[in-house]
Amino acid sequence: MDWLLTNVRLPDKIGLVDIAIADGRISQIGLSIPDAAAQRWDAGGRIVLPGLVEPHVHLDKTYLNSSGHFPNRSGTLLEAIDIWRAAKKQRSLADVQTAVRRALRAAIAHGVTAMRSHVDTEEMDDLETLAAILDVREEFRHAIDLQIVALAFAGTSPIIDRIMADALALGADLVGGAPALVPDPVASLDTIFALAERTGKPIDLHIDETEDPASRTLLTLAEMTIAAGMQGQVTAGHCCSLAFMDDQEAGKVIERVAAAGISIVTLPSCNLVLMGRGMQPPPRGVTRVKELLAAGVNVSAGSDNVQDPFNPFGDYDPLRSAQLAAHTAHLTGADQLTACREMVTSRAAAALGLDGYGLRVSAPADLVVLDAFDPQEAVTAPPPRLATFKNGRLIVRTQTEQKWN
Ligand SMILES: [Zn+2]
Repeated sequence: MDWLLTNVRLPDKIGLVDIAIADGRISQIGLSIPDAAAQRWDAGGRIVLPGLVEPHVHLDKTYLNSSGHFPNRSGTLLEAIDIWRAAKKQRSLADVQTAVRRALRAAIAHGVTAMRSHVDTEEMDDLETLAAILDVREEFRHAIDLQIVALAFAGTSPIIDRIMADALALGADLVGGAPALVPDPVASLDTIFALAERTGKPIDLHIDETEDPASRTLLTLAEMTIAAGMQGQVTAGHCCSLAFMDDQEAGKVIERVAAAGISIVTLPSCNLVLMGRGMQPPPRGVTRVKELLAAGVNVSAGSDNVQDPFNPFGDYDPLRSAQLAAHTAHLTGADQLTACREMVTSRAAAALGLDGYGLRVSAPADLVVLDAFDPQEAVTAPPPRLATFKNGRLIVRTQTEQKWN
């Protein structure tokens, strides 16, 4: 036995238990496990969750704001796009790697053990950025599982499609895109599905990030997912227009999304920043999380952009995303708060297709110790994280100290 965690509170169990870890996996969960461990930790009744899962970020853009060279003065999407184009040309690969390392350390210290990031793969230079990020992924392989989505306007030019294919060959794990933002969304989706079929890789798209209720790319995506037999292998982020449709229209789309087994990722921080500008009263802009959950759709919550021209907020804390999801979608009932916690644990793990995820015997020992005694506080008042374990290895331990005079 490598580790014995004693006096642990699990969110779905009454009373305290011990967790034994051996060979990178949870070997026992129970009362008063005999102490034969090389190392031990007395959690003192604190909450332990399975490692948090971040389903949607943009590591290639992150922390651009920190440099001070790329301020978004209007805070709008249009200016953000212009700044991003200019910044890509000015930043070195070393700058990118420094930012990615900082992001991964922040995430891991918050308890993240698996993450999915989109990376632009639209220009030849983007492949060098991707390779630099893949190198950092290797550095952190012991600490975090990192999936990369190749993101480009697929189907809009043969050059972009070739760069997408090269990115997937280089090591990107998923086919990405933003088909609602191109003139012919169906052609873009055709290209994306063809690329997925050719490479055997799953799909994760930015979908309907707009207030326009007529934007129904999500419905097309659902039908194409079913036609391609890719149920359970497709993720759709944002899906904001769903919130702007009437209930009947939205219900029809949600029914097909459920049938297609599409995982939806809500991205409340970025939606609150970018959606509904100029509208009065300003809408929240997030998708219909409550209705999607009620229809049995797998919904998770992500950070999206973090401290870059698109979104000045964020610190790679999935519990912050869970809280924002609860807040913006009116998910404040006791069971709904639990669902929001699952949106950054088990539900996000399902979106990422993580095998054997969870706090149970024989699962990989990926877990986080919270400085809290009430499981609901994970969402209602995200507490400090005291330790993150990855495959049974203590990756980071955080000590908090408070002195009262
Ligand atoms: Zn995004």
